[in-house]
Amino acid sequence: MIRLDDTEICPVCRRGHLGRHVEDIDFHQWTDKGLMRCGATIRVSACDACGFRSWGEEAEAIMREALRRAYDRSP
Ligand SMILES: [Zn+2]
Repeated sequence: MIRLDDTEICPVCRRGHLGRHVEDIDFHQWTDKGLMRCGATIRVSACDACGFRSWGEEAEAIMREALRRAYDRSP
């Protein structure tokens, strides 16, 4: 069975295909408590030709949640 999501053409190079995979990412965000370091596991779409990467709303929400947890843990 072919999932359309897995055969999306890359919008940048128009040669490669966007494949989805799960990735652990680290990111930093400035807050009023200082620089927060967060980690999250999100689904990323990556081009197999040019390396273009993107992620959607769902991943943004997961990253916001990770930032909120780091913020709450921080003194
Ligand atoms: Zn590409």
